[in-house]
Amino acid sequence: MLNFQDLDFTTEKFRQLCSALAENYTSITIEQYLNSENNLPECFVLMRHDVDGKAKPSLRTALIEKEFDIHATYYFRAKKNIYVPEIIQQIEGMGHEIGYHYETLSDAKGDYEKAIKMFEEEVNRFRGICTLKTISMHGASLSKFDNRDLWKKYDFKDFGIIGEAYLSLGEKLNYFTDTGRGWNSKYNLRDFIPGKKQKYFADTTDELIKLINSGELDNLYITLHPDRWTSTTFRWSLFWFQDLAFNSTKRALRMMRK
Ligand SMILES: [Zn+2]
Repeated sequence: MLNFQDLDFTTEKFRQLCSALAENYTSITIEQYLNSENNLPECFVLMRHDVDGKAKPSLRTALIEKEFDIHATYYFRAKKNIYVPEIIQQIEGMGHEIGYHYETLSDAKGDYEKAIKMFEEEVNRFRGICTLKTISMHGASLSKFDNRDLWKKYDFKDFGIIGEAYLSLGEKLNYFTDTGRGWNSKYNLRDFIPGKKQKYFADTTDELIKLINSGELDNLYITLHPDRWTSTTFRWSLFWFQDLAFNSTKRALRMMRK
């Protein structure tokens, strides 16, 4: 029998993660980290969220973090249903940092001039509703363009941006990402810090929590996609898994009949 406690990537698991983090680390935003001039807390966590899908699930994670006094950084894409001013402002109001999850080079299909113009427009759009100091690239895994390449030709500092979440954060951070349904999964193609070898892995969030509680690391840099963490009830999950089992059984049966 499937137990809700066994499920990973749920709101409940997120809460457990936040609880472990709050007990062991001081959270700082990416902006605070970049402005810290190495005057950092002894043990700190950077909690970063890339909002790739709908904006709404971010409200859920933002509220849970607020409960634990965690200050995170939320990067929103400038797209419909993601750039939602009311939600962005609400999250900023909870004490989180808002950043821009840019993808203009892949959107412009490699046209640098067009991409930087779009970038400037989007930055201004964000600044019309919130404070904006940092950015993170959207992986756009289907595109052949790496959005970070924009900065081989231009400088984001010219737009009042103090840092990029992949390029500006240095070597000494222990990076963890939920891309690929694990922590630092082998299915992750683009979401990593260039030049930095991944040292730590965790197959499940429970393992990550164990690592957090062990005190082995003096810092963590976590990237988590809020819309991939479900707020389902026990029953909902159970049905979901039943459906999954049902579908694969059906598929197996169909193949056997052929
Ligand atoms: Zn993304």
